[in-house]
Amino acid sequence: MERTLSAGEIQFSYAKKYFEEFTSSRPKVAKVLKEVKTPSLVMDLSGIKARYVQIRYHLPEVNVYYAVKANDHPGVLKTLAEVGSGFEVASSKELEKVLSLGVPPEKIISSNPVKPEEFVDFAYRSGVDRFAVDSFAEVEKIAKIAPRSRVYVRITVPNEGSDWPLSRKFGVDPETALDILEFAKEKGLIPAGVTFHVGSQCNNLRNWFIAIREASYLWERARSRGMRLMFLNMGGGIPVRYTTEVLRIEDIAYYVKGLLRKYFPTPPYELQIEPGRGVVGDQGVLVTTVIGKAKRGDENWLYVDTGVFNGLAEAIGGIRYPVFVEREGELKEWVIGGVSCDSLDVIARRVYLPEPEVGDRLYILSAGAYTTVYASEFNGFPKPEVICL
Ligand SMILES: *Cc1c(COP(=O)(O)O)cnc(C)c1O
Repeated sequence: MERTLSAGEIQFSYAKKYFEEFTSSRPKVAKVLKEVKTPSLVMDLSGIKARYVQIRYHLPEVNVYYAVKANDHPGVLKTLAEVGSGFEVASSKELEKVLSLGVPPEKIISSNPVKPEEFVDFAYRSGVDRFAVDSFAEVEKIAKIAPRSRVYVRITVPNEGSDWPLSRKFGVDPETALDILEFAKEKGLIPAGVTFHVGSQCNNLRNWFIAIREASYLWERARSRGMRLMFLNMGGGIPVRYTTEVLRIEDIAYYVKGLLRKYFPTPPYELQIEPGRGVVGDQGVLVTTVIGKAKRGDENWLYVDTGVFNGLAEAIGGIRYPVFVEREGELKEWVIGGVSCDSLDVIARRVYLPEPEVGDRLYILSAGAYTTVYASEFNGFPKPEVICL
């Protein structure tokens, strides 16, 4: 009789298959993963390039502005600059990094709806003139510091089924959005577009549906008030696989293209997306070393040389990374603790692995986005080194 697999077996075999696929197609990466000092984040630049090309292939009419905050390592940015990507930045430091690669300011936008004055000033002086807004105060700020710039308004859209929702912090309803665009015009700015974010790691096509429909409603209302908008920015949200399969870029693209045909029969002058996670998330492996083991009550604990303060902050918010160890044997359930003394520093619970020994490498897969950018040196432990191959 065929035996059904346990949840633990399913989990570990998924991580194992993922690791084997990732390394078998990347012999150089595979070698480095086994030799590099830990903790290190190993990024595959040719994989990032391939992701960019894939997105462009499926959405040929859409310009990509990579969201720098997902991973701002110079190697990553340079790779994307070389293939012609645009960039979305939120701070002077991010902007400096992108400009230093020779990226022209026309390929840079800033979509954070609330920006420090110092940054708006630097961006404006650098030639960047496209800024997101979602409040009257922000319009006033931009009108004062960056006169005659183009502004695009952020509307709220559902973030249901997104593992990292963003809609509670930013965005306004379409009526308020219209008033904000009109106010921008009065202030001498150019009301230029609409933006939304469906939530990061978005696995729900319906979010794109509502978002594009709302955007088209706003677009028409703006036209009837004499404002001809130029660009539709569809934000980020493209998911990558962690412990389960997710929507593929071709599925999202197919659906979004259909929505655009329906809701924007006259295409906007420019269509934009600004993916972060979807470009780099599954192109990085965080290599850690097991530094300790303990049994606490019923729980088996493993301790590794990184943690939620040194790169795995999203673990606190619910991102579950696939974890792999090169061992065979009976699976055990583990809690993986981070390196620091803080009790918040727990990377994952209910992880099934064959028993590792102290000194073994633990591979944390899909760690390319929102890891090292979040890292601090809390408790004196180093941030993972980023190795670009
Ligand atoms: C973070 C962010 C993105 C990127 O989101 P992903 O989910 O990583 O694709 C895009 N746009 C804005 C405004 C953001 O804040």
